[in-house]
Amino acid sequence: MNTSGEAHTARCACGACTITVTAPPQLHGVCHCDHCKQRTGSAFGISMYFKRSDVAAIEGDTKVYAFHHERQNHDQERHFCARCGTTLYWTLSVLPDRIGIAGGCFDGAPFGEPNMSVTHGKKFGWVGLPDAWRVAMD
Ligand SMILES: [Zn+2]
Ligand SMILES: [Zn+2]
Repeated sequence: MNTSGEAHTARCACGACTITVTAPPQLHGVCHCDHCKQRTGSAFGISMYFKRSDVAAIEGDTKVYAFHHERQNHDQERHFCARCGTTLYWTLSVLPDRIGIAGGCFDGAPFGEPNMSVTHGKKFGWVGLPDAWRVAMD
């Protein structure tokens, strides 16, 4: 565990579950896939991927939803708060050294603006994104 950097904590809606990181994300994007729309109930998910070694603490009682993501061809384990149901963090079989955290769960957007649009082909037409963002996994 790395506790040298500035710590930022993501938390679920009820506050029972938290995950704290000590460095900025390696990847920071929004994802328009059906799973992200369904898990958030919104137009896209904000996905931040951190090195596992930059995770300083994980607290609270989560349940796990494990499944195979057909469109992106990987196994995923999503940890959601057992009390309020917020998906707080997840792991992907294709990124074994990383942990994904739901970007909206951090207070005050400490890591600024995303720079990548994932599964861009499934973006709702009314969602406008900055031209500078990289399109990944169309
Ligand atoms: Zn909760
Ligand atoms: Zn997605």
